[in-house]
This record gives sequence, structure tokens and C-alpha cells, in this order.
Amino acid sequence: MPKTKPTIAITSLTCCEGCQVAILDLGARFLEVAEHVKVGDFALLEDAPDAPNYDIVFVEGAPITEENIEWLKRLREKSKVLIALGACAALGGIAEIKNYQDKFERMRYVYKNFEGINNPDIKPISYYVKVDFEIPGCPINKEEFLAVVKQVLAGVPPKIALRPVCYECQMKQNKCLLQEGEPCLGPLMLGGCGATCPSSAYPCDGCRGPIPGANPDKLEKQLLAQNYSQEEVDLILQRFGLVDRVYPETPASTN
Ligand code: SF4
Ligand code: SF4
Ligand code: SF4
Repeated sequence: MPKTKPTIAITSLTCCEGCQVAILDLGARFLEVAEHVKVGDFALLEDAPDAPNYDIVFVEGAPITEENIEWLKRLREKSKVLIALGACAALGGIAEIKNYQDKFERMRYVYKNFEGINNPDIKPISYYVKVDFEIPGCPINKEEFLAVVKQVLAGVPPKIALRPVCYECQMKQNKCLLQEGEPCLGPLMLGGCGATCPSSAYPCDGCRGPIPGANPDKLEKQLLAQNYSQEEVDLILQRFGLVDRVYPETPASTN
């Protein structure tokens, strides 16, 4: 009797859907994986009907609306493995910046009448449901996605290397932006992106989230000593939520 193929879903909450685009960018290599699974839902590719159960669900985006939160909880109930796909799902994403602002003051710039608009704080999906693994990045690294899918399908607990962005940056022999006074978050942030930003002379914003045990205090002091104002430093650390996160020694990405 032929072996039943595992059913997977790649689903979106509130986001730009750029992580799904990164998956599609795998092209024929994704189709090779797709041959070994039944794709129950892949919002960007086709509007397949919701399956009764899933073996693996990849969730992209932040749970912002009540519908998002309800859908996320329903997915968790019927999934064996639930994986956060990208910074929005794993950290709350760039939208989380609004948690540190006067949201109602900001809304005045966008909406003439905003009374009645629900504007909750942004949370990562792990605030609402158990997450088995996180694939970091904004967007995700498609090669990392492929590696994780293969590991999960083979029944191997997925792993990604827990090295800071600086490791890859120095391997590329880039000139250090932080030493030149630029606010680069590379020492605190999880590598695996190939130090994309500093390799293009742009400081790391931290889209892959902090390495385990990251402590922003030292970097904050260094930036203040380099004449950045406290307000500027706060804004830098607010990107991807570095400013208020408690960093577990063992994140979901190493479980
Ligand atoms: S993590 Fe980035 S690329 Fe992925 S959905 Fe969120 S905003 Fe888009
Ligand atoms: S530029 Fe940034 S990522 Fe590269 S070594 Fe310096 S601090 Fe680290
Ligand atoms: S260098 Fe930093 S901001 Fe750029 S992709 Fe890597 S982790 Fe994200």
C-alpha cells in the first residue's frame, strides 16, 4: 500500500506575504518538495480548501485581527507541527513598532475618523499558541526554509545555526559599520542571512531577531557614547522589538 503523503499548509495572517513569495522564488526546487507532500492550503499559490488536519503548518504574518487569532488557534488544534514563518509571525514584525508609539495619535495621520477602529498591540504568534519552530527573517531565507522542510519531513528536529550576523559579516571581510559609528545591530542578531545588509553597507536592523541571551545594554551605551540621542537609540532598538524582549537561552528555533 502506498505511503500517505503528509499534508502541509502555508498560510497567512496579517502581513505583506513576502515570505510566501520567497518560497515561490525556490521555483522548481519547491516543486520537488511539493511532490512528497499534499499541499492543503498555500494561499498565494491556490485557494485550496481547508483540510481537516495538517501534519505541518507554516504560519506567516502577525495575528492582528480577531479573525487572525481565531484562525491561528484553529490551525494549532489541527496541526501536528506549527512553524512560524518570518519576522511577523516569530516577533510581531515591523508592525510591532506601533506598540511603542501613541497609536491613537498616529492614527490621526491616516484616518479622519478612527473611533471604533480596533487597534490592538502586535504580538508574535507564540503569544497565542504553542510554536514548534521559528524560521526567522524579513523575508525568510528560502534556503533555510527548504532545509527546515526537509528536516521535518525526515522526522528530524529542525535546527538553524545560532550565530550572530557579525560572524557572517566578518567571514566576508566587510568593513565594520559599528566601528565607523553606524548603528548596526549585528552583534545581537541571529545570522543566517549572509550578513545581507552590512554587505551592502547598510547597518543590520535585526530582522532575524536576537541571538539567545542577547543583551542590548552594551550596544545602547556604545551608541549613546557615539552621540546618538536616547530617542534615536530607542527607535533603533524598537525595530523588531529588541528594546523590550526577554531573550530565552533556548528559543523555539532550537527546540
Ligand atoms: S516577515 Fe517580512 S517579508 Fe515576511 S510577511 Fe512579514 S513583512 Fe512580509
Ligand atoms: S558591520 Fe555590523 S554585522 Fe558587520 S561586523 Fe560590524 S557590527 Fe557586526
Ligand atoms: S543583516 Fe540584519 S536586517 Fe539584514 S537581513 Fe540580516 S538580520 Fe536582517
